[in-house]
Amino acid sequence: MVLPSRFFKNFYAEKVNEIGCVYDELRLPCCGPLRCAPLFCRRAERTLIVKKHMKRNSILLTALLVIVVATLLVYGVFSASGTPPSDLSEMSGGASPGAASEIGSTGSSQAPSDLPSESSGGASGTVAPGETRISFLACPDNIIHPSVYYDAIRKAAQADGSTPVYTSLATGKYDFADMYEYVADAIRDADISYVNVETLIGGNDNKISGYPMFNTPEQAGEQLIALGFDIYNLAHNHMLDSNSDEYLINCNRFFESRGLTTLGYYKDQADVSNIKIIEHEGVKIAFLAYTYSTNGLSLQAGSSTVIPYISESLITQQMELAKAQADLVFVSMHWGDEDRYEVNAQQRSTAQLLVDLGADVIIGMHPHVIQEMKWVEREDGGRCLLTYSLGNFISGMQDGFNMLGGMLAFDIVRSADGTCSIESPQFLPVVTHYTKETAVSGDDTGHRNYKIYPLEMYTEELAAQHGVQIWDQTHTPTLVGGAFTVENLKRTVKTYIPAEFLADWLQ
Ligand SMILES: [Zn+2]
Repeated sequence: MVLPSRFFKNFYAEKVNEIGCVYDELRLPCCGPLRCAPLFCRRAERTLIVKKHMKRNSILLTALLVIVVATLLVYGVFSASGTPPSDLSEMSGGASPGAASEIGSTGSSQAPSDLPSESSGGASGTVAPGETRISFLACPDNIIHPSVYYDAIRKAAQADGSTPVYTSLATGKYDFADMYEYVADAIRDADISYVNVETLIGGNDNKISGYPMFNTPEQAGEQLIALGFDIYNLAHNHMLDSNSDEYLINCNRFFESRGLTTLGYYKDQADVSNIKIIEHEGVKIAFLAYTYSTNGLSLQAGSSTVIPYISESLITQQMELAKAQADLVFVSMHWGDEDRYEVNAQQRSTAQLLVDLGADVIIGMHPHVIQEMKWVEREDGGRCLLTYSLGNFISGMQDGFNMLGGMLAFDIVRSADGTCSIESPQFLPVVTHYTKETAVSGDDTGHRNYKIYPLEMYTEELAAQHGVQIWDQTHTPTLVGGAFTVENLKRTVKTYIPAEFLADWLQ
């Protein structure tokens, strides 16, 4: 796995506070001038923290180990002689095997290789007997505006010392990896990860383009695959950007031909009954996806493709099929009003329909800003984790509030009795950073140095350098609180996302 459970996040935060920033000492390339970010550089950090604590607590550790070894020896002797283990705690002064495992669960007295797997974490940090825990991560709108792919061309040229060529987009060399550097671990470590491919990979044989009818370079799609995403959502308002289903079919093939799961494309009416199900460690999760619109574009005459527009009949039909075939049902919803923090009537009524039909998780997106997140109780006794909008993941958009998005993380838990549930949901805020430079063509805003930062790593220094500051001089600032600052980014998150879904550093 590894999205850290709340337990681990708290533990790391606590230890980092205690020992100071670990990055100066480690010289981690991802941290540079940034302040501590315990969540996103956790492997190296965990190793260091454990080593530090082992050193500091070596005397205590030695004493504990002696007690544990002695206990185990006594246990072996008495087990062999038939003495019940219940007698052990008294005989070993209380350091029973149970106590030893409790010490281990804090991580402070274990070698790094023995640390409990975070995939078996959850709120308690332990897995109950017979329980299965699977980590899930959803990343929202991945929008590749021209400034984003021009930046990737420049980064590739910088890397090999050549002059960037912005005119041969189909055959150009791109480097998108740097943009995702600080979120790559979280994506790779999740057992199941999802991304909304808002701009289709329509094929490099077609003209590469940006707003309003996007065709994103295949190299950008290759980057998403390299990051390790498992599920690629194609149900959104840009599904028909080729003014036909051509880009959609090409994009679907691009991912499916590599053995990956796509959502939202149905080749014909019969295909609508084929529910996408991911099975992981025996847990079956059905995925459905809908969009409110395709920007006024329609399928070409004669096409058999079905677009999953939001409709009560289609949702009801597919939810019934999904519920019958899977343990859990997750629904990707493309809905809402762009650039509006407020949830609209269609979002509320459709969410209620999905809850009534038994949805377990609703992954909302499209407004390009974050919106409300909450648990909704279901009549069947279960509950649905509802996110109305996770905002943007990466984009070339201009306003301050478009720079703020969130990754949705939680554990999928199957208990010993076979019931499945969603636990430890967290909203992990991210910021799309860029600087304002010189445009190279008419469709270019000149934004460069794109990078997705976990908000936890983002500094006031970076915020002051953000290209949006120039934009804000001629436009009304859009974050809660106004100006584009870390304080106002945090304030915006805390305004729309309840504290129960946020890490301690945001409380
Ligand atoms: Zn959209």
